[in-house]
Amino acid sequence: MSSSEVDLFVIGAGSGGVRGARVAAALGARVAVAEERFFGGTCVNVGCIPKKLFSYGAHLREDLDDARAYGWDVAEPALDWPRLIANKDKEIARLNGIYQRLLEGRGVEILRGRATLEGASTVVVTAPDGAVTRRTARHVLVATGGAPLRPTFPGAELAMISDEVFYLPKRPDRLLVIGGGYIAVEMAGIFRGYGAQVTQVYRGALFLRGFDRDVRTHLAGEMRHRGVDLRFHTDVASLARRADGALDAVLTTGETLVVDAVLAAVGRSPNARNLGLEAAGVALDERGAVRVDGRFRTSARTVYAVGDVIDRVQLTPVALSEAMIVAQNLFGGAKRAPDYEFIPSAVFSNPSIGTVGLTEDEAREAAVTRGGAVDIYRSTFTPLKHTLTGRAEKTLMKLVVERDTDRVVGVHVVGADAGEIVQGFAVALKMGATKAQLDATIGIHPTAAEELVTMREKCPEPDHTMNVEHVAEGAPPRRGIVHHRWEDSDAQ
Ligand code: NDP
Repeated sequence: MSSSEVDLFVIGAGSGGVRGARVAAALGARVAVAEERFFGGTCVNVGCIPKKLFSYGAHLREDLDDARAYGWDVAEPALDWPRLIANKDKEIARLNGIYQRLLEGRGVEILRGRATLEGASTVVVTAPDGAVTRRTARHVLVATGGAPLRPTFPGAELAMISDEVFYLPKRPDRLLVIGGGYIAVEMAGIFRGYGAQVTQVYRGALFLRGFDRDVRTHLAGEMRHRGVDLRFHTDVASLARRADGALDAVLTTGETLVVDAVLAAVGRSPNARNLGLEAAGVALDERGAVRVDGRFRTSARTVYAVGDVIDRVQLTPVALSEAMIVAQNLFGGAKRAPDYEFIPSAVFSNPSIGTVGLTEDEAREAAVTRGGAVDIYRSTFTPLKHTLTGRAEKTLMKLVVERDTDRVVGVHVVGADAGEIVQGFAVALKMGATKAQLDATIGIHPTAAEELVTMREKCPEPDHTMNVEHVAEGAPPRRGIVHHRWEDSDAQ
């Protein structure tokens, strides 16, 4: 093999790309990776990690208030926003270095610059200084991720996208958030926690489409309670800069809001354009995502794709798992296929959501098809911590159970540490846990999580027919929570 030939060329050093490259190299493959922006991709740089750091910071404000009820005299805290950004940047730079060293440690060749395909087996990388490097690859892995979409109303260019919120030089005093997905609810909670006046608009009747209805309603109530001005059936019609530097946001209700910043969080689209994919024979779907089969192979036989660029489930752990499958199948003799059943996820809203499995509506729909029935167990309670603080905060916990099999098919939590709680229950659901097994499990006292193993009373049967949700025209099917198994026939 000449120095310009590799077994695997990975385009994109984000979560999926780095994992695929490392695993392939560990299995003895000769690997090269091209990255034009930053190591670690969206998750490390402008996604999960800085968002979670911001989320910790936002919660600390509440903790400082709560501390008084526990005997601490705490002065009114002052915010030094630039210090937050500087500390966050330092941590992200450290992580960038770790990702780079992980690749180097495995002998992966790193090429900085933009990679494009020249046919299905040649990758051309153009460095920032214009230098061009060519590599011939037995296999190519496209792991280029996605990018935030911008809305199209007049003045939309005045709104930020999520990448930008992590570099704001100043915390906006008045923030308008557009959208009702993961990013919108997380950022609304974070900026409210940091003391901003936050308005969030969502075009539909209730945000977080695809999540359990009780979860959505509960979170809406809790967010309003914390002072987020939530407006449903409302969108932004236009934005314009005012003479004083603020923004006039004209809403579809006719009202005009004056704000300092607007965040558009209206979804993300796959980074699949201008990579030479189509010319190399790689087919894209109607949303511009790379089409792959059940083993992540594209319509060009040497080219594979994983992560957000295939637009199945836009979650870091899913991209990691997909990349590992590709590397192990190609270089480890494995024949693995992905398993998208019971993918847990958390939304770091305030309060946070942890969820795994079917929503009540999904389970009822499935039961109708099967001729079965569903039992629901639900509990809403004040967390012990807030018995002293007096904070009127409620935690919601819900179990969705298939009546005929007694199998627990959904666990939903809204409250402190919801993601930490649900991760363990995801293992149980994956193993096919029944309600009787949950009942036989001893709780840990006093915790919030013990509620999930002590719920005995079924909710009464609903006396209404299932609501059919009106979905905005052009809205994509929800893919965050997936119960579909992709088959080879889904590709090409
Ligand atoms: P989502 O797809 O989650 O939500 C997009 C939101 O924008 C929806 O409420 C959608 O409404 C709305 N919307 C779409 N188009 C328009 C429009 N033209 N005008 C107004 N509103 C619009 O996208 P996000 O950007 O929040 O996040 C992208 C993905 O990243 C998530 O789906 C998730 O997979 C991942 N992510 C995961 C996180 C986590 O695990 N904690 C955190 C952040 C992101 P409608 O419902 O009506 O279509």
